[in-house]
Amino acid sequence: MKVQAYAVMSPKSELVPFEYDPKPLNPQEVEVRVQYCGVCHSDLGMINNDWGISTYPLIPGHEVVGEIAAVGEQVNDLKVGQRVGVGWQSGSCQVCHYCRRGKEHLCVVHQEETIVGRHGGWADSLRVQSHFAIPLPENLDPSLAGPLMCAGSTVWTPMIHYDVRPGMKTAVLGVGGLGHLAVQFLAKFGTDVTAISSSHNKEEEARQLGATDFIATRGTDELAKAANRFDFIISTVSADVDWNQYIAALAPEGRLCIVGVPESELKLAPFPIFHEQRSVSGGRAGAPGDTAAMLEFCTKHGVAPMCEQFDMKDVNQAVDRVRSGKVRYRAVLAS
Ligand SMILES: [Zn+2]
Ligand SMILES: [Zn+2]
Repeated sequence: MKVQAYAVMSPKSELVPFEYDPKPLNPQEVEVRVQYCGVCHSDLGMINNDWGISTYPLIPGHEVVGEIAAVGEQVNDLKVGQRVGVGWQSGSCQVCHYCRRGKEHLCVVHQEETIVGRHGGWADSLRVQSHFAIPLPENLDPSLAGPLMCAGSTVWTPMIHYDVRPGMKTAVLGVGGLGHLAVQFLAKFGTDVTAISSSHNKEEEARQLGATDFIATRGTDELAKAANRFDFIISTVSADVDWNQYIAALAPEGRLCIVGVPESELKLAPFPIFHEQRSVSGGRAGAPGDTAAMLEFCTKHGVAPMCEQFDMKDVNQAVDRVRSGKVRYRAVLAS
């Protein structure tokens, strides 16, 4: 049976209905019948071919929630009818140093990405390695789980890998799709969270999400006054900012973790980094084990994205809203 999907046929074009014949189900793969799929900024980047890795027709969608419709003959950990989520990564070598340590997202041998060189989740179904179809906890609302698979995992994973602990002073730069989840996680971890945004527009919402302080950067000296304050800053913005100001806001041994992709190269003054032993790190959506732990955490602690829901057929409307930055805070397509 053909897969019914939405695809762009060339860079920056509109989504159009598109169907394709799926490849035979590999023994280690599952077929997921898509119920919901988020719209991520990386989908827009792939539509535009921003990173030069897009191939067309391109079917975006890497925040998939659905039910297992079929399992390959070697799959024994997932059952037909079980609800799962799929994020940015859809396969890895499974045997390298990183894969064996539960860091499949760092696999150096073979990484398969859900919408790179293969078809993604803005469709009625997709097929992935079973290891990358993560079972959803029973109590997790499936209509809100999609954005956790990429946005949630992207902010969660560095917090875990860089050992964010209760009592730390933390900050989240950018209160958007990623940032509004980062604020919730850091608050539930027991850290003292400051939200940082260009204006005070989102202050009330950020405080409702768990922020205890707020810094507006445009035309104020609020960031300068926060010198030496934060143990961990996570940047979720994709614009260029004055990174040296954020490094100055780190306490000694503090870490700036960048998970949004800046437009340009980072220009960093060396002295404030080595003198106070500060770090600048990257971070990205994590491995299946990290994602499963995050989903459990969200269920137990009531962390959830704020979503606007669209019918899958209204995908162009959803994309326009995300592209124009109007969506608060994440768009989800329902099939
Ligand atoms: Zn994404
Ligand atoms: Zn590997």
